[in-house]
Amino acid sequence: MDLRIVVVHPDLLGTYGDGGNGVVLLQRARWRGIEAELVDAPSDHALPGGDLYCLGGGEDAAQTASAHRLREDGTLAASVARGVPVLAVCAGYQTLGRSFAAADGRPLPGLGLLDVVTVKGAGPRPVGEILAEPCDPGLPVLTGFENHGGHTARGVDAAPLARVLSGVGNGDGTEGAITGKVIGTYLHGPVLARNPALADLLISWVTGAPLAPLDDAEEQALREERIAAVRVRRQLRRAGRS
Ligand code: GLN
Repeated sequence: MDLRIVVVHPDLLGTYGDGGNGVVLLQRARWRGIEAELVDAPSDHALPGGDLYCLGGGEDAAQTASAHRLREDGTLAASVARGVPVLAVCAGYQTLGRSFAAADGRPLPGLGLLDVVTVKGAGPRPVGEILAEPCDPGLPVLTGFENHGGHTARGVDAAPLARVLSGVGNGDGTEGAITGKVIGTYLHGPVLARNPALADLLISWVTGAPLAPLDDAEEQALREERIAAVRVRRQLRRAGRS
């Protein structure tokens, strides 16, 4: 097996459909003839070894339980120390940070794998489409859907994943964070279905070789439709019609 993709705690971090990221990675690997398997890793078992880990979004209480289990278990931190790539979305992103907010706003320890701190945001909960320009010039614009109460501040060791064009993201004009091969993002969608180039970046980090191009006409049509939806909504808002 060349690529073992592990979806972490789908029983706790499965609320927003981010398990689809694992399916996208599996399929894009197989389409290239890479032998791959997808493993769902429930929270009541030790986290299995893998070549690529995906964490999804979840509600506050479930996120707290997942973070506690991952800290106890230690496998994710040990894997990151060995250079294994991780994609973490929303609750998963916050969990990888130094600390995040419990349901009542108390700070709880994260895994410390990304130099970010998340607190409860003061304003309305950001819910809606988000567009962001990646800081990596090799990636096209990122499209996704955000739904979170937390605001995330980056420390010096975490670079932003992208700059927000429309939406909120971290809350300071940036979106997500990246350190080495660990990516955190607020983008649901699932993010890899909407941004196949990001999926390919993660796979190439494991295989260590550039990937053969795929026919992404359908994915491209989805991207164009979602990006246009944001632009149209902004125009309507500017015209005072939404
Ligand atoms: N519970 C976290 C928050 O509201 C994460 C939400 C999510 O994963 N979508 O910020």
